[in-house]
Amino acid sequence: MAEIATGEVVELLQTLIRNRCVNDGNDDSGHEHRSVTTLQQYLGAEGEVVEPHPGRQSVVFTVPGTTPGAPSLLLLPHLDVVPVTPSGWSWDPFAAEVHDGFVWGRGAIDMLNITAAMAALFSRYLSGAMPPLPGDLVLAAVADEEAGGVFGVGWLSEHRPDLLPADFVLTEIATPHVVPGGGLPVTVAEKGPSWKVLATRGTPGHASQPYRSDNALVTLAEVIGLLDAATEPVAVSPQWVTFVTGAGFSDDLASRLVDPDRLDEAIDELAASDAPVARFAHACTHLTVAPTVFTSGTKSNVIPDSAEAHLDMRLVPGQGESDVVDHLRKVLGPGRLDRIEVIDKVTGPGNASPADGVLWEAIGDAAETHTGSRERLPMLIPVTTDARHLRGRGAVSYGVGLFDDRMGFGEMLSLFHGNDERVSIGSLTATTALLATTVARFGDRLAEAT
Ligand SMILES: [Zn+2]
Repeated sequence: MAEIATGEVVELLQTLIRNRCVNDGNDDSGHEHRSVTTLQQYLGAEGEVVEPHPGRQSVVFTVPGTTPGAPSLLLLPHLDVVPVTPSGWSWDPFAAEVHDGFVWGRGAIDMLNITAAMAALFSRYLSGAMPPLPGDLVLAAVADEEAGGVFGVGWLSEHRPDLLPADFVLTEIATPHVVPGGGLPVTVAEKGPSWKVLATRGTPGHASQPYRSDNALVTLAEVIGLLDAATEPVAVSPQWVTFVTGAGFSDDLASRLVDPDRLDEAIDELAASDAPVARFAHACTHLTVAPTVFTSGTKSNVIPDSAEAHLDMRLVPGQGESDVVDHLRKVLGPGRLDRIEVIDKVTGPGNASPADGVLWEAIGDAAETHTGSRERLPMLIPVTTDARHLRGRGAVSYGVGLFDDRMGFGEMLSLFHGNDERVSIGSLTATTALLATTVARFGDRLAEAT
């Protein structure tokens, strides 16, 4: 493929960041229609737009394949980003300014960098500059990934599965090498969400006389405290074992990181030298429980009669909802649990794709072209992405990128949904080239096989 100019991808990324498609979980947030318009203008095509809720647009562009029945390749970036706390940032999070060789802004690594790279490489197929692949090449830029995909991939999978072919998929997440010179991390598996709301009820009364009052806030605060103090259940998955074995940790540390009895101690040790990597290791091996939103009360002098807490829980591949219920019952005790209303918000199992096959090998070809080594590191990620919807329909789905040495694995992990999110221009260029070669080699390999 003719080289894609760095400036073109940087400019597209900057526009996507400036569009501020902030998804705060409310139906009326997101405003992904802005970035749909950006992509339509950039690609010079309308695509097929769906809008399940005003402003919550996704757009799908297709370059038909040449060989009937050949497997499709779906490029699946999302358009939305999470909210920011501007005071924590060194630069305006939505100005997308370039400082010190980085593009700064919300979405710079999650995942508008990949969105821009995918759109740029796709434009070459849409314009005919690159020959079509044997199967369909589809770019689906979607809304609402950051809130479970209800208005994006979830909606499309249910109402317009024809727009999302489910053979092979490239989506997020992409990270730098865990150890310099090690295998290229390729996301092949992810944890599943178990997002719940816990609700308690009490009896309203005058807050001047709290003696033996039935205060819903106090009841729920006790529950949250117990959950936070509890040891979370460990699950060492085959995907974690593969990752640890290939990541480049010392033999001693690696052996303890896959041993359920010594794992927590090893993570504590890791935390002393690299807190983000320790957090990642903990998340990849535990059913995690994070309280995130707490609401209660109406007025300073009224005992609250209701309280709600949002829990973000995550399941390791192999764990299920029964593990969540067991954990809640064990920590809270049946008496306390039975007095709480537990409402499911988004739930689904973790899942994985095999680290082999034509797309896996195409990524290897691209890694070899751009790094000199085809070594890849299959990675489990603790976050939930749109891949779960496609894997649920039988697709093989990966996330991959290529990063320069200006930021390490742990540092970059800490920027996801964090302050000072940024991507180096070198990484943006390298990722675009890697993805472009991957798509081209995917087509070559399919053509060679027929
Ligand atoms: Zn993302």
